[in-house]
Amino acid sequence: MKCPFCGYEESKVTDSRNTSDGSSIRRRRECLSCARRFTTFETVDISLQVKKRDGSYEDFDLEKLIKGIDAASRHTRISHDQVRELASSIVSELIEKQLREIDTMSLGAIVMEKMRHLDPVAYIRFACVYRRFKDVDEIMDAIHTATPQER
Ligand SMILES: [Zn+2]
Repeated sequence: MKCPFCGYEESKVTDSRNTSDGSSIRRRRECLSCARRFTTFETVDISLQVKKRDGSYEDFDLEKLIKGIDAASRHTRISHDQVRELASSIVSELIEKQLREIDTMSLGAIVMEKMRHLDPVAYIRFACVYRRFKDVDEIMDAIHTATPQER
C-alpha cells in the first residue's frame, strides 16, 4: 500500500475495522517514511458461486445473507449488529477456505452452526427455513441440541 503523500511502499497499520456491511476493511495507516497518516479501504473480493436447490448458480450476495439472518433473528435477542458480525465472520470463513462454490445447504449449515451459539431460538427459526424440517421429531431434536444446558 503506497503512501499517497511520498509514494513510499511501506506503512504500518494503526487501526483496522470492518465497515458496517462487513464487505470491506477500513485501515488507518502511517507511512514509515514520512509518518503521515492515511486511510485505506480494502474490499474483500469473494468470487463465490452459490449453488441453489434447483441446480442454478448465483453470485454470493452478502446483503442477501444478512437479510436472511436478520429475518430469522427477528424477535430474538440477536441485534442487527450481531447479525452483521455473524455475516462477516461467515465471509471470513469462506475466504479462508478458498471455496469457489458452495451450495445453499452447506451455507445454511455454516450459518446455523454460528447462530446456534448465539441464540438457540433464532437458530431454530433459521433451521426451519433452511432445512425444511420433515417432521416434529426433527424440530425437537434441533431444539434439544440447541439448548446447551440440556445435554
Ligand atoms: Zn509517506
